[in-house]
Parts: sequence; C-alpha cells; structure tokens
Amino acid sequence: MLVVQKYGGSSLATTELVKHVATKITQTVQQGNQVVVVVSAMGDTTDDLIARSEDLVTNPVAREMDALLATGEMQSAALMAMTLSAQGTPARSFSGWQAGIRTDGEHGKARIQAVNPEALQAALAEGIVPVVTGFQGIGPDGAVTTLGRGGSDLTAIAIAAALDADRCEIYSDVAGVFTADPRVVPLAHPLAALSYDEMLELASQGAQVLQTQAVLYARGAGVAVHARSTFDDEPGTVVRDDVRSSDGPVTAVALDSHITKMALLGVPDTPGVAAYVCEQLASSGINIDLVFQAVSHEDERADIALTIADSDRDKARGILTQVLKDLGGRQLLVDSEVAKVSAVGAGVRNHPGVAATMFRALADAEINIQMISTSEIKIACIIHRHEAQQALNRIHAAFNLEDRD
Ligand code: ASP
Ligand code: MG
Repeated sequence: MLVVQKYGGSSLATTELVKHVATKITQTVQQGNQVVVVVSAMGDTTDDLIARSEDLVTNPVAREMDALLATGEMQSAALMAMTLSAQGTPARSFSGWQAGIRTDGEHGKARIQAVNPEALQAALAEGIVPVVTGFQGIGPDGAVTTLGRGGSDLTAIAIAAALDADRCEIYSDVAGVFTADPRVVPLAHPLAALSYDEMLELASQGAQVLQTQAVLYARGAGVAVHARSTFDDEPGTVVRDDVRSSDGPVTAVALDSHITKMALLGVPDTPGVAAYVCEQLASSGINIDLVFQAVSHEDERADIALTIADSDRDKARGILTQVLKDLGGRQLLVDSEVAKVSAVGAGVRNHPGVAATMFRALADAEINIQMISTSEIKIACIIHRHEAQQALNRIHAAFNLEDRD
C-alpha cells in the first residue's frame, strides 16, 4: 500500500517524540508499505516564531512572515529524515516546492493550485521515504507561501490525492473525531466514521481535529482521511463520502467559546442596512458567523446582531462604531461572554424534531438561548459562555450520544 502519514506538532514536540514517530514510520515501512511522511513544526514552534516577529515588527511583510514560519516545518522534516535514516530507513526531506506544491500568491493563506508529485515518486521508486514539510508551497513568483494555520493537514491530503495513495492518515494527540470534545463531555466517544459535510460543520464549530481547508480539499478530491492518535493503535475516525455514521439524527455536538456577539441597536429598518454592515466587515476580512435581525415596527428601527471570532473583536468594534454613526443607529453592544453550541448530523434534515429536542434540553437546564441558526445538517444556539459546558453535556445526552457503539 502507498500510505501518506501526517504528524502534527504535538506528536513531534520533543526529540523523544520525534524518535517515537520515526519508529512508527519504520514499522509501517517494514510491513511492506510505501510511506510518504508530512510533518508539522515541532510543538509550539509556529507560535514561538510568530511571537518573535511580533517582538520586532507590528505589521510584518507577509512574504517574510511566510519565509519565517516555513522554517518550523523545515526543521522537523530534516530532523525526521535524519532520524529515520539512522534507524536504517532511508529517508529524504522535501520542502513544499521540492515536493512540487504550487500555490497562488496569497501569503499566509495560499491555495494549492497544483501538485507535481514526480520528485516524490522518484524517491519512492528508490525505496526512500520522502519527509515533506507541511503547511507550505511555492507561489507564482517563486516565494515560499504558507497554507494557513493547521495547513499541514492540507499538504498531506493534497499529496495523497496527487499520488493516488491508498491511505491518508492524519496523526495527532487525539484519537479521531469524538461525539463531543471529551475534555468538556466526559461521556464522549470516538466516531468510527463521518461524512465530509459533518466534519466541515464540526471543524467550523470549533472541533479542531482537521483543518477546514484540508477537509474541503479532501471532499473535492475524494480522499478518505483517517484521523488517528500517535499514541495508541486505535483505528480512529475515517472522514469520507456517504457515511451513515449514526442511527439518530445527530452525530456529534460541538462548542465554540471563542466568539463575540455584537449588536447594532436602533438602525433604520430599510433595504441595504444589513448589506452595508456585512460589507464593511467583509472588506476588512472579518468573517461573520451568525446574523440575526429583529424588527421593531413602531419606530421603523431594527436591531442587527451578529457573531464573529474573538480574534476579530477589536477590529470589528472599530468598524461597527463607524457603521453605527453612518447609519444613525442608537447603540453598539459588544458581548464576549457568549458561546455557540451546535448539534451536527446528516440526519438533521430528515428529523423535524431535532431543534425541539435541543431547545428542550437547554430549557430544562434553564439556559437561555440568545440566537439560533440552522442548516441542513446543523442546529446552533448562542448562549452565555458560563453555561456552555453544561449545555454541551445536556445536548449530548438529549441525543443519546453516550449510548452508541
Ligand atoms: N505549524 C503550522 C501551525 O502551527 C501548520 C500545522 O501545524 O499544520 O499552524
Ligand atoms: Mg494541526
């Protein structure tokens, strides 16, 4: 079999762990497989590099930021290749460009445009294990680009697609995708399988097992992704097409505590107001998650509430303060004491009672719902952050997720 194995930063945090991973790779090779390895930067290296740049410069040039961050993965790849070789497993490190990964020129969040796997194939044909730097490629002008945080997952999936690999395994410190984050819900358990769409909803809901861009790429290319733990031999979770992952309507629940709610009160209830608000945020690169508009008929004024990532809060506050002025609105509310709980499942669309079950579970715990959003496979509620852990446990129980398997 041709296997692509990606190891995340926490699996490579120390030299002991690098050795441990090298041994795992050697075993896979000795079982008769061809292996391509993709590595993340060791431990917190990427964060440390960002911090170092911030010590020097407030707004570093994006090109140089990529040149800097790419070095984290280059260290891992070289160290892994020499460790493998020392174990008697011939290996060779490849940077993104050496591995044939071409991207657009969007530094910091480059998109993969093409993968030419010839160099990797040549190494494999010689019996050499290629160890590829995750998270990076080469842009149209020849500069190093990076693929966004967590982008090593994307590297692995793109290489698996280009090589038409038999398996693509993403190793981290968690044993796959759970019915809920086990640190929050002790009764959560790993799922054997789930669909790309379910995974995408969970990824954007704060379940950080696989990078969202990587799952989108996997869906597009039809690559089945095995998310597994570096530290045990459990099968982990397969993310692929057309899975019936559960008997009930809900497959998993997720919590995102890193969000802020902002509300513009008393803005005119006229066409174009919501568009204006959203355009102003979008043009600064701020993603809006939920939007909600309430109309008060008496004075023809409306309230618009929306949620964004905590990391965009200060920027968004500045923009919306100006927007409020432009629109002649009454007040801007900013509330970071919120969280989003979601129930996700391919069965949501066919089960009309899902929303009722979720709202009842929250009501029975006397948890107030501030905003609601639904999609074909998801129901999400914004609630107070202090109640989020309790809420997630209640919802997990309400959908009987702890009894499955
Ligand atoms: N080292 C990069 C990060 O920390 C990429 C990755 O680990 O996937 O985001
Ligand atoms: Mg990662």
